[in-house]
Amino acid sequence: MIDWTDARRMMLDQARSGKPELVPLKGALGLILASEVRARHDVPPFDNSAMDGYAVRAVETAGASPDRPVSIENVGFLPAGEWAESGIAAGQAMKIMTGAPVPPGADAVIMVEETRMVEETRTDGKKVEILSEVVEGENIRRAGEDVREGDRIAEGGDLLTPALIGLIAAVGHPEVKVPSRPRVGILITGDELVEPGEDLPPGKIRNSNAYSLYAQVLEAGAEPVEFDIVPDDPTRLRDAFTEAFGRCDLVISSGGVSMGDLDFVEDSVGEAGAEILFTAIAQKPGKPMVGGAVGDVLFFGLPGNPVSVMVCFEVYVRPIIRRMLGFRDIYRPTVTGTFAKGYRKKPGRMEWVRVVIDRSGGRCVLSPSAAQGSGVLSSMVRGEGLAEVPREVSVLGPDDPVTVHLFSG
Ligand code: AMP
Ligand code: MG
Repeated sequence: MIDWTDARRMMLDQARSGKPELVPLKGALGLILASEVRARHDVPPFDNSAMDGYAVRAVETAGASPDRPVSIENVGFLPAGEWAESGIAAGQAMKIMTGAPVPPGADAVIMVEETRMVEETRTDGKKVEILSEVVEGENIRRAGEDVREGDRIAEGGDLLTPALIGLIAAVGHPEVKVPSRPRVGILITGDELVEPGEDLPPGKIRNSNAYSLYAQVLEAGAEPVEFDIVPDDPTRLRDAFTEAFGRCDLVISSGGVSMGDLDFVEDSVGEAGAEILFTAIAQKPGKPMVGGAVGDVLFFGLPGNPVSVMVCFEVYVRPIIRRMLGFRDIYRPTVTGTFAKGYRKKPGRMEWVRVVIDRSGGRCVLSPSAAQGSGVLSSMVRGEGLAEVPREVSVLGPDDPVTVHLFSG
């Protein structure tokens, strides 16, 4: 049985990021840039007003106050979206709205609240009174003050956040290049499985793994590709795997990897052309677990138990998907914690303990989230992460630190 870290590394060593493809900006949230993005033009593209007010020559406002207003001739109206055809000369102002280009001749904007209309000032040739001073440049947003044409605003490996998506739009790109989303085949095996909406005859159980895995694939950022439930039949399994390897970038299966008489996955993927890298990992849950590859397509034969399958996905499959998506940091965040009541186990296999975390005392104090059976899905529902209890440990005292791999972030 190999160590969990070796199993993870062996698979990660073979994972490549997806072929870059263009996606529309609005579909790019949470994805990773495959290459740098440069500004097609200045942002803002031209000097513009930061206020609703009047474009003026700052020097002409010198000494202005409510008691001693400066009277200036208003010669026009500039809404956002229009270009000033003419400018202002000495003794003139132009009414300007936020975002409108500053007209030639003006070097400041005085906000409308600091002015008084003598008459209707939207029409040309009317007077406006300036009630305070402005200095040169005041209330003007300069061309390129955010980004200059040609600037590199992001590089390959950067996460597409809402703010970065906004900035990429602002510099004129409708699409971005990202590694293509991996298509992850989900192959569910087992004669005992029925879907949630169907009758539950004696002896059958719900196919819950198809649902938790589908959600995990989506949450990791990949595209799930579903297959019909495959019965415990070596030929049917081989054919299903052959099809999945042809259609997907990564294939995961559930069930059929333990020592039972009807556990055919390892042999069937072998017949479908996979090279097997390992068949068991020194861990609990999830001891029987197959890792392999068919060419560039990686394969994980995950255990059937509902907790084991989810834990193994978290630990082994999710980092692979993150790497294929181009993430620099492919792992979940970790914290260090201690078990409130210590922890006991048999040496020989490391254990992934589903834990809740009490942070009230300024430290992370851990307790198992529920019974730790590999079928007790409630432990995953309530758990905040997986505490990693090392292979040869048999007793952890209440002060012995362990690493906890969080389920979120
Ligand atoms: P196996 O490794 O195929 O023997 O499965 C181990 C355990 O997991 C058995 O109790 C199965 O009934 C259960 N199991 C297998 N597949 C699923 C599934 N898709 N959903 C829920 N439980 C499953
Ligand atoms: Mg089975």
